[in-house]
Amino acid sequence: MQVKSELKQGKVNPSKEAGFNAFKMAQQQFDRIADKLNLDEPTRELLRNPLREYSFAIPIRMDDGTMKVFRGFRVQHNDARGPCKGGIRFHPQETADTVRALAMWMTWKCAVADIPLGGGKGGVICDPHNLSEREQEKICRGWVRQIARDIGPTRDVPAPDVMTSGQHMLWIMDEYQTIMGGQYPGLITGKPVELGGSRGRTEATGYGLVYILRELLKEQKIEITKSTASLQGFGNVAHYTAELFIEYGGTVVSVSCWDQNDNCTYSYYKQKGIDVKELVNITDRFGTIDKKQAEKLGYKVTPGDDWLTHEVDILIPAALEHSITVENVNDIKPCVKIVLCGANGPVTPEAEDILDKKGVIVVPDFLANSGGVVCSYFEQVQSNQNYYWTKEEVLGKLDNKMTDAFFKVWELAKRKKIRVSDAAYMIAISRVAEACKMRGWV
Ligand code: NAD
Repeated sequence: MQVKSELKQGKVNPSKEAGFNAFKMAQQQFDRIADKLNLDEPTRELLRNPLREYSFAIPIRMDDGTMKVFRGFRVQHNDARGPCKGGIRFHPQETADTVRALAMWMTWKCAVADIPLGGGKGGVICDPHNLSEREQEKICRGWVRQIARDIGPTRDVPAPDVMTSGQHMLWIMDEYQTIMGGQYPGLITGKPVELGGSRGRTEATGYGLVYILRELLKEQKIEITKSTASLQGFGNVAHYTAELFIEYGGTVVSVSCWDQNDNCTYSYYKQKGIDVKELVNITDRFGTIDKKQAEKLGYKVTPGDDWLTHEVDILIPAALEHSITVENVNDIKPCVKIVLCGANGPVTPEAEDILDKKGVIVVPDFLANSGGVVCSYFEQVQSNQNYYWTKEEVLGKLDNKMTDAFFKVWELAKRKKIRVSDAAYMIAISRVAEACKMRGWV
C-alpha cells in the first residue's frame, strides 16, 4: 500500500488561522445549547471538557541514524454512551486544543447518529511529507506503545484521519496485537476489506449525505428527479454524494477541485448534468481533473469558487472547512433551498445566520456526514464478531440509521421552530448528558 499517495491533503486544520482556537469555539457552541437545555452545572462542567487526555513523547531513530522525539496526543472527550471513537491526525501544526475540539465534536456526531460510541481524537505533531515510510511506521508503533492500555475495542477505537491512511492503522493494530498477545481487529477502523475493513465504507459518507437529502427533499415536497445540485470538491465525499444523487434521478451541474498544477481551484460545469465516471476517468491520482479533456467533453471550466454561484436547489460543500463565509454567502442564488454540509465546518456561524434568515435549510456537518462514522461502527461490530456483512447489508443498515437520525432532528426542529443544527446539537448533547446521569456521574 502506497502511504504517500494516500495522504489526505493536510488542509483541514482550523488551528492554522491566526488567533483561532477550535476548542474555544467548540465550548462556545456547547454553552449555547447547554443554556437552551437548562443543563445543570456539574453536567456542563463534565461535558465542556474532555474526560481524559494523554500527551506523550515518541522517540524515533530516523533513517539517518539520529534520534528525534515526536509529540503524540489522545483525547477521550466522553465515553458515557460507549467506547471513544475518532481519528489519528498527523499534522505539523497539531495542537492539544485542536485535538480536544475534534474529540468533542466526535462525541456529538456519534450521539446524533445514535451509535453506542463516544468521542475521541488523536494526533502526532509531524509532517509525513518529510518522513520516510519506515519513519512513519515507527511513529505509529511508538504512538500505540505509549497508550496501548488506554485504547482498545472496549475503550477507544482510532481510525485514519488527516494525513493518515489504512496502512498507518494496520501498523498500529499490529503493534497493539503484539503487546496484547491476541487478535484485536476491532481496535481500529478504516482497515482494508481484506484485513477486516467493512464493505461500503468508501461510499458511506457520500451515500449517507444522499439518504438524508432524499428524506429532506420529500419533506420539502421537492421531487428528487427534478432537483439540481452543485458540489464543492471531487474527492471521496463529493464523488459518492454525486454518484448516488444522480442514481436517484437528481442532476449535479457542477463539481470543483484543487488543481495541483496551477495551485488554484477550478469548477467544472455542465448544465445538463455531470457524469461522475467520465470525470473520474480524467482525474489524476492527486485528484486534479484534466481541464482540457473536460472542455472537450463539454464542461465549462472556470477558476475560483463558481460552484457556489449556480442556480440550483442544493449546494453541497464537500471539500474544506470555511467555504461559505460572510464574504461569499450573498453570492448564493435565491433559488438555493438547502445547504448540505459534507465537509467538516464548511459554513461559518455568521454565514449560517444569514442563510437562516433567507430561509435556507442548513444540514450541519456532524449530522450530514455521520455516515462515515456509522459505517466505522459497523466495521467495529463486524470485526469484534469476526463475521462480515455484504455491501448491500451494510448500505441498507446505513440507510436506516441515517434516515432515523435525520427524522429525530427534523421533527424537533419543526416542533420547536429552531434551525436544524440547533436541533441536532440539542439531541446529541441531551443524549450524552442523559447517559452521564444514568451512570451516576453527575
Ligand atoms: P478528499 O481528500 O478525498 O477530497 C477533498 C477534495 O477537495 C478534493 O477533490 C480536492 O481537490 C478538493 N479541494 C481541496 N481544496 C479545494 C478548494 N480550495 N476548493 C475546492 N475543492 C478543493 O477528502 P474527503 O474524504 O472527500 O473529505 C472532504 C471533507 O469531508 C473534509 O472536510 C473531511 O474532513 C470531511 N469528511 C470526510 C469523511 C470521509 O469519510 N471521507 C467523513 C466525514 C467528514
